[in-house]
Amino acid sequence: MAGKLYRDRGIVLRTHKLGEADRIVTLLTRERGLLRVVAKGIRRTSSKFGARLEPFGVVDVQLHEGRSLDILTQAELVNAYGALIAADYDLYTAGALLLECSEKLNEAGQPNPEQFHLLLGALNALARRRYPPDLVVAAYLLRAFSLEGWEPSLHYCANCGETDLRFFSAEGGGGLCANCASTAACRALAPEAFELLQALLASDWERALQAPTGLAAPSLQLLTGYAQWQLEHHLKSVRIRERSYEIL
Ligand SMILES: [Zn+2]
Repeated sequence: MAGKLYRDRGIVLRTHKLGEADRIVTLLTRERGLLRVVAKGIRRTSSKFGARLEPFGVVDVQLHEGRSLDILTQAELVNAYGALIAADYDLYTAGALLLECSEKLNEAGQPNPEQFHLLLGALNALARRRYPPDLVVAAYLLRAFSLEGWEPSLHYCANCGETDLRFFSAEGGGGLCANCASTAACRALAPEAFELLQALLASDWERALQAPTGLAAPSLQLLTGYAQWQLEHHLKSVRIRERSYEIL
């Protein structure tokens, strides 16, 4: 007997092969959080799903409840972000970081519409090239971690509250003053870099875009280090992004 039917909107984070013709699709959905579902027959050329279920795609889906995984019965593409991002290596490696972090931050069966909309907004900004890709990912990481209560301290020393920040430490909780810096693994950070991070966290793009362009990649690197420390998880897409700087 087929289970109950339901609909949701989801962002395709990842897919992997299942058997001869099927795929398991990992979605971040608006109503149900992280969801792993089966798309049957998707790898056949005659599949009704076509290329709609590729990473970065935003889809309206219909599913029915299965015994272990739910089964996808319909998928309608909502926009073309996927094709735009996948066609450009710079956007693709930045986008892969968004998807991997989102999968690690969200949980199955835990609806988190704010995380859904944050990821959707970041993919939109990437696909439309509204801002430099490194800054889009950095802003996403800051805000996504902030939603979970893991915001790094960017205005005050995480240890003593001093406002003159000179170092950044993932394990120390973010910005540190010169006195507190020796206690944890730290990186020296210029005041302009702290200003950029503050602007990104506040979504103040006008201010963020005034920062020297050379700060974008190191700021993202700092935040991916912070993300990996918080998640206690190595993110594969970090290496791929860093390699892309050498190629592009
Ligand atoms: Zn301090």
